[in-house]
Amino acid sequence: MYILLMGPPGAGKGTQAARLIGEYGIPHISTGDMFRAAVKEGTLLGLEAKRYMDAGQLVPDSVTIGIVKERLAKADCKSGFILDGFPRTLEQATALDSTLQELGIRLDRVINITAPSGELVRRMTGRRVCRKCGATYHVVFNPPAKDGQCDKCAGEVYQRDDDREETVAKRLNVYQVQTQPLIDYYRNQGLYTEIDGLQPIEKVFEDITGSLRGGRA
Ligand SMILES: [Zn+2]
Repeated sequence: MYILLMGPPGAGKGTQAARLIGEYGIPHISTGDMFRAAVKEGTLLGLEAKRYMDAGQLVPDSVTIGIVKERLAKADCKSGFILDGFPRTLEQATALDSTLQELGIRLDRVINITAPSGELVRRMTGRRVCRKCGATYHVVFNPPAKDGQCDKCAGEVYQRDDDREETVAKRLNVYQVQTQPLIDYYRNQGLYTEIDGLQPIEKVFEDITGSLRGGRA
């Protein structure tokens, strides 16, 4: 099963990716992990990417695509993968198409787990993190037993700057502007399925697996 997984921050993509790995026994390939692995293995492209990252610059598409290609050519991708966080631009999407073609792979489905921005903002601004052990909480969905205190280590539970409302709204806006062309691109290829991320986790998962089986989501 070759799946491309999309979704704005806060829509529950990580949770569903974890469940899909369990269901299909295929690797979860996220751009961040892929970069770290390439750098660690010291591949030519990994070292090149590192030079850009060390200089605080964006890694150019040619390098990113090369790293994706190296990763997708590995043995564990023979029966499928969940690609997450890539492509981000139309240019990357067309480059991915030719890479997949070279590898003899066809995407089964592009899944986008979405939710209205108001709800995403509500979810993300409610996130709290323990300063000491990094445990995460949510003021609505998963509050600590004692307000402001970590259940696990009694450390201080706080809101990261990244989770403040203006930052979150800005991040979502950037994401949406960036993603729309990709949605159109995959919709035109007949691969695109949108999943309502507001539903209970179990129902979201059912919708995803249903659409992968070829049913309507
Ligand atoms: Zn803690």
